[in-house]
Amino acid sequence: RPIILWFRRDLRLADHAALTAAFESGRPVIPVFVLDEVAEALGAAPKWRLGKGLEVFAQALERRGSRLVLRRGKALEVLRALVQETGAGAVWWSRLYDPACVERDTAVKAALKDEGVDARSFAGHLLFEPWTVETGQGGYYKVYTPFWKAVQGRDPGQPRAAPGRIAGPQDWPASDRLEDWALGAAMLRGGEIVARHTNAGEAAAQERLDAFIEQGIDRYGERRDMPGCDGTSRLSEYLALGEISPHRAWAAGQRAVEEGKAGAVTFLKELVWREFAYHLMHHTPHMLTDNWRSEWDAFPWQEDQRRSEVIAWKHARTGVPFVDAGLREMYVTGRMHNRARMVVASYLTKHLMVHWKVGLKWFEDCLTDWDPASNAMGWQWVAGSGPDAAPYFRVFNPVTQLEKFDPRGLYARAWIAEGQSMPPATALEYFDAVPRSWRLSPEAAYPAPVVGLAEGRDRALAAYGARESAQ
Ligand code: FAD
Repeated sequence: RPIILWFRRDLRLADHAALTAAFESGRPVIPVFVLDEVAEALGAAPKWRLGKGLEVFAQALERRGSRLVLRRGKALEVLRALVQETGAGAVWWSRLYDPACVERDTAVKAALKDEGVDARSFAGHLLFEPWTVETGQGGYYKVYTPFWKAVQGRDPGQPRAAPGRIAGPQDWPASDRLEDWALGAAMLRGGEIVARHTNAGEAAAQERLDAFIEQGIDRYGERRDMPGCDGTSRLSEYLALGEISPHRAWAAGQRAVEEGKAGAVTFLKELVWREFAYHLMHHTPHMLTDNWRSEWDAFPWQEDQRRSEVIAWKHARTGVPFVDAGLREMYVTGRMHNRARMVVASYLTKHLMVHWKVGLKWFEDCLTDWDPASNAMGWQWVAGSGPDAAPYFRVFNPVTQLEKFDPRGLYARAWIAEGQSMPPATALEYFDAVPRSWRLSPEAAYPAPVVGLAEGRDRALAAYGARESAQ
């Protein structure tokens, strides 16, 4: 009897434990993607990127003699119907860890098992299952460095190759058409511009990893903080959709360590930041929606999205070049350099005193590498409300940050068109990407800062001081 493989954020053929097990069983395999309420709730850019990923993944399956069956509806109902239609005896999938998926998957597993279906989940989205990393006292880690030390010597296992031809059922169940789902419909900026900067799929992910290991990892340590150069792996969107397994990235990084390549250990450490985010999300899922430290609940952060400063921040017109450059990079490419993410988040939560949740939501809508755990951990880290957070009083100065990390002005020039006689294509693309209703033009003058940097910093620190003395 066939096995239904329920794909979600694991759009790959190589190093896929459930697919490997299904292949080895010799039974027919029916790959399925369900557009359910969890997928429907994705932000605009992650949803658009999901569409790109599904398109490429379906082609990859077809090259192996298989197909991707697309269905829309509640996951349990869809899977149940497919079991009926195909006579499948099993439904297998790769585990996910955010609360919405855990709740859904637990219910699906229990119901299908009750009905006599072999419902099973496999690991694969992470190097280390979040519950397997424990402190000496049997608790979880709240600080990164000891977490890193705890996993450093572990072997997450070697990645497995993709199976050859994947046997399918005699009769394929009907599938929706991907175009009819219009997964890009919510992209106000339209997908075409972001598509120029996106190369979806497993093959592209592997190419990117190979190129990074060949050419980038040696200088990763020194270049990873420089937003103006292509100095990082850019694997995040592939990891977010599971187009590459973290094991593959880890194994490549490990080999680079053995070859003595500088920067290789730093790369492994970054992969472990992703693991740490999942570890925290598993143990404290409230971190997605609430201050990780509840003492921050009384902090006077603003949440009114209509405030002109919030609009200026979203529209990347704060008048602060590093902040605007980062936000424009995200709007055009779907990505933002990590250094810029920290600077724009600090500016929003400190200089503008806006709640990190407002920024988190905007990133969720705009990032093609959106990841629930890393995004929430990143925002709470910068805001100061997270477990292993930068102290609130450490306010990033976006001017000195730009001088330090973009000394030749490459990043600022790449993204800020105003004031340049011949702006590069990237800087102009921003103005093509923004919705007309924003009424922006590269010919207009660059805006004056929406808040003086010293004034914003003092205001934030005064609020922080008041909060401290109130406790
Ligand atoms: P590289 O420097 O090449 O690192 C390799 C991999 O390590 C990354 O692909 C990523 O999987 C992981 N990694 C690196 N830095 C971090 C980090 N700080 N936290 C967790 N994992 C990390 N990352 C996301 O993948 N999705 C998000 O939605 C996201 N939101 C963020 C929001 C804020 C406010 C901040 C400060 C950071 C956020 N990050 C997020 C983390 C980080 O910025 C990105 O992972 C990184 O910029 C991706 O680029 P890269 O793949 O070239 O990274």
